[in-house]
Amino acid sequence: MENVIIIGTGCAGWTSAIYLGRANLNPLVLAGDQPGGQLTTTTEVENFPGFPEGVMGPELMMRMQQQAEKFGTRVEYDLVSRVQKQDDGTFHVATQGGKEYSAKAIIIATGASPRYLNIDNEKELIGKGVTSCATCDGAFYPDVPVCVVGGGDSACEEATFLTRFASKVYLIHRRDELRASQIMADRALNNEKVEPVWNSEITEYLTDDEGMVRAVTLKNNQSGDESELEVKCVFVAIGHDPNTQFLGDSGVELDEDGYVKQGNHTTMTNVEGIFAAGDVSDHIYRQAITAAGNGCQAALDAERFLAEQE
Ligand code: NAP
Repeated sequence: MENVIIIGTGCAGWTSAIYLGRANLNPLVLAGDQPGGQLTTTTEVENFPGFPEGVMGPELMMRMQQQAEKFGTRVEYDLVSRVQKQDDGTFHVATQGGKEYSAKAIIIATGASPRYLNIDNEKELIGKGVTSCATCDGAFYPDVPVCVVGGGDSACEEATFLTRFASKVYLIHRRDELRASQIMADRALNNEKVEPVWNSEITEYLTDDEGMVRAVTLKNNQSGDESELEVKCVFVAIGHDPNTQFLGDSGVELDEDGYVKQGNHTTMTNVEGIFAAGDVSDHIYRQAITAAGNGCQAALDAERFLAEQE
């Protein structure tokens, strides 16, 4: 019987593991199909405290894993397919690889996956001029034109934020009306650096000799016309999908967008003994440091829960 199984290996998962390891609880981490989470798809991270020179996303995650393992965390690589509470109050965890585990407590730290456009060569260009995080990558594109795709609050917020760096920010939306709240839409559209491009979709990323994005092909979905737009980076802001598919029959309550609901001032879900941390339950902040902080909270909550059971 495990004390705590942590599902997920982003900032939240590893931070939970570091804290539980140091509390001598010997946690087991189950790593999914993207070990290290979203930071493994970014390049340099400049806003994680303690790294004044910046740190590469994959390196930061590797160091978190090393720190967790140093304090007794064990890691297994398998996708969790099911979590279920048993009559005795413990949890049964099954994986796609056919393994089964029992645990006294669970921390869900499976994050959220940004949606992308799913067009040719997109995957290879993530980190080379295609990204889903303006806060992370905006500062790498000073005085050059960039674009944001989407029409929601995220797209408007990112477009406004990017005007601090870029020479021009095209806001590319597939309709002629934004979905964003009025205040966020006004803030973006009233900024003289932001230019909306309505009824348009990116059909192609065009690259330079070094394999970095130099432009995109746009298709106007009303007229069918195609054009080329010179941009050095595409910020895709068309929403996120929380990774909660495996929670189907766990009884864990999700909000209307599929994010795990935490309790008031605690990371415990509605199922006693199951905790959630990081982007899987946060559609607002979504930062490495906030996920790490929340992972720490989940570990402390789980530790207290286990102590109360004894
Ligand atoms: P969202 O509200 O779901 O908006 C997604 C946008 O992407 C929509 O405009 C949608 O177009 C577009 N889109 C979706 N799939 C697309 C595709 N395949 N190709 C092109 N465009 C596509 O997502 P969000 O902006 O990330 O916001 C998520 C939630 O967080 C919302 O509740 C939002 O209010 C909240 N949020 C709040 C703040 C804030 O208050 N500071 C900041 C960010 C987010 P259509 O409009 O045509 O569907």
